[in-house]
Amino acid sequence: MKHLNIKLLTAGILSLAIYGSATAQTHPANDPVFQNLDKSVSPGADFFKYANGGWISKNPIPPAYSSWGIGNVVGEDIRTRLQKINEDAMKANAPKGSSTQKIGDFYYSGLDSAGIEKLGINALKPQLDQIAAITDVNSLLNVTATLSTIGTRTFIGAGVGQDDKNSSKMMLQLNQTGLGLPNRDYYFKTDARTVKIRNEYQANYLPNMLKLSGLSDEQAKADAKSVYAIEKSLADSSRKLEDLRDPYRNYNKMTVAQFNKLTPNIDWNKVFAKMGMPYVDSVIIGQPEYYKAVSKGLSTFPVNDWKAYLRWKLISSYAPYLNNAIGAESFHFTGTILRGQKQQLPRWKRVLDTENGIMGELLGQLFVKEYFPEKAKARYVALVEAIRDSYKEHIEKLDWMSPETKQKALLKLSTIHPKVGYPDKWKDFSNLQIDRTSYAANVMNARHWQYLNNINKLGKPVDHTEWNMTPQTYNANYSPSNNEITLPAAQFIVPGIKDEDMDDAVVYGYAAASTIGHEITHGFDDEGRQYDEKGNLKGWWTAEDSVKFTKRAQMLVNQFNSYKILDSLHVNGQASLGENIADLGGIVLGLDAFKKTQQYKEGKTINGLTPMQRFFLGYALGWLGHERDEALAQQLSTDVHAPGFLRVNAPFSDVPEFYQTFGVKKGDAMWIDPDKRVKIW
Ligand SMILES: [Zn+2]
Repeated sequence: MKHLNIKLLTAGILSLAIYGSATAQTHPANDPVFQNLDKSVSPGADFFKYANGGWISKNPIPPAYSSWGIGNVVGEDIRTRLQKINEDAMKANAPKGSSTQKIGDFYYSGLDSAGIEKLGINALKPQLDQIAAITDVNSLLNVTATLSTIGTRTFIGAGVGQDDKNSSKMMLQLNQTGLGLPNRDYYFKTDARTVKIRNEYQANYLPNMLKLSGLSDEQAKADAKSVYAIEKSLADSSRKLEDLRDPYRNYNKMTVAQFNKLTPNIDWNKVFAKMGMPYVDSVIIGQPEYYKAVSKGLSTFPVNDWKAYLRWKLISSYAPYLNNAIGAESFHFTGTILRGQKQQLPRWKRVLDTENGIMGELLGQLFVKEYFPEKAKARYVALVEAIRDSYKEHIEKLDWMSPETKQKALLKLSTIHPKVGYPDKWKDFSNLQIDRTSYAANVMNARHWQYLNNINKLGKPVDHTEWNMTPQTYNANYSPSNNEITLPAAQFIVPGIKDEDMDDAVVYGYAAASTIGHEITHGFDDEGRQYDEKGNLKGWWTAEDSVKFTKRAQMLVNQFNSYKILDSLHVNGQASLGENIADLGGIVLGLDAFKKTQQYKEGKTINGLTPMQRFFLGYALGWLGHERDEALAQQLSTDVHAPGFLRVNAPFSDVPEFYQTFGVKKGDAMWIDPDKRVKIW
């Protein structure tokens, strides 16, 4: 929920070669890096294109996707496995209340397109009736609170999470939210691409959806204007992407009485009680100016405008689970206009993705039972330790850090806890009700279950066994509050390539550097370094070392700010700083860990590639893929991760071994003068 430095499209694989023969010969046609090369490109001109260009030219983006790469290929493989689990569950006639019954019935209800059509917008009738009955600010707040409990994103963004300054305490936290466009910039930016999206949103998407929800043409158009005015006022008081990364500025602890005073039109005691939390005494507010604006808006916008806003939030939040007309209209904007997708995924894939998102651990239990061998866990843990050792040596050798700070850094490093594969203890879904009558109702029940699972943590001790990702997620993350990394089982899947065919060089680049090294470095990026080994936001650096770190980090900000990507859009060096520090750290840590392997020492080539060349290609394999311009534009505005090709080319330009390995010379596009190359960890 908060401060999860989620790495999108992380690539992770585990090779038997790490533990066995380090130089397994690889057949050219099955060589995971050789087969992707575009040898017409010089590595020093554009390494990403050299490494992945061959694959990209042979693998265009399918119409239903906004991007296509190794993460998608693995995702397809996972879907196929989950499909079998779901189809078996659907036929199983399992006892009511069992996991198999819930999975099978959810899948059935999602595939029942006739039933979904018949029900139409009536699937949301109780909630629409509640909104229609609103008469004043009080009843408006009551209904808003109720909608929040079924996963509708209203203007209240509340969740329970660890207190940044006391990681053993769970606190209610409220952050900015409530917009319909991807983030605040979309309401103000004046470039042609954004203006077109904004116009489409106001003139078509909003009124069309409101009309499909049962309003007259005239009413829908009027309501669309009201909704947009409210959203724009909320956007105006929302912080920018880069301003959300300062943990101190986004930490404002106060009593509920103080919060009430800040927002005089809202009685939060009543709102929290309606949300199922009657005993809240203090809260952490991420962006106080946002909630001040919400409170002000409750008296400046008429209640009828707010009713339109809530109607909009409800239908847009449930559109993918309603009848085809609403689903298609929603896809046209969120899929095609925003991300460039030409068509929707087939229904079964959409249902699986939904199920995975809201009851994923239920599915994960069956997934790992069938597809994840117990012994893999131990292997991946060993790779984590290889990176930890490498990091230790790096910290000890740093010439810019004092012995005092080094000691604390080593303590934090030694206590990073790895969660590997799948949880030891699964979440208990016995209260979740799923049957075959309504897909939207099933989604609502599952969202409500997720909501209760979160708020029930309030006032309880932190459960360190709980996972924040499902085992079938192709991704990984670092949690500053727990000082831990999570590496889900799905990371072990590499379609089309057997573990034993993968050599160490590729595995160290692909898994150790781009995933494990990256996640561990998050504990020491510009944000993560502000948390101590216990996960508390508490300074442990000497003032002088902090200054030295920030100076080096600023060089990386400048480097990324200089990359122009699309039209006038460039990378936001400040917003992406944490990810870029983690990428650069992951590469140098993985590199030095690899130098300890037999394959590196023997130095034999495979398919004409040296071990070092294969290491860099292995890293680039983690970012194999391409995306549509629409998706790229959205990523540049809303994502703290730089585009994949830059996550290869930019950090490589900072690493001396890259220059040596590929003979990169001054004048090559990838060249950066030695005194401008960034070295942090
Ligand atoms: Zn990351």
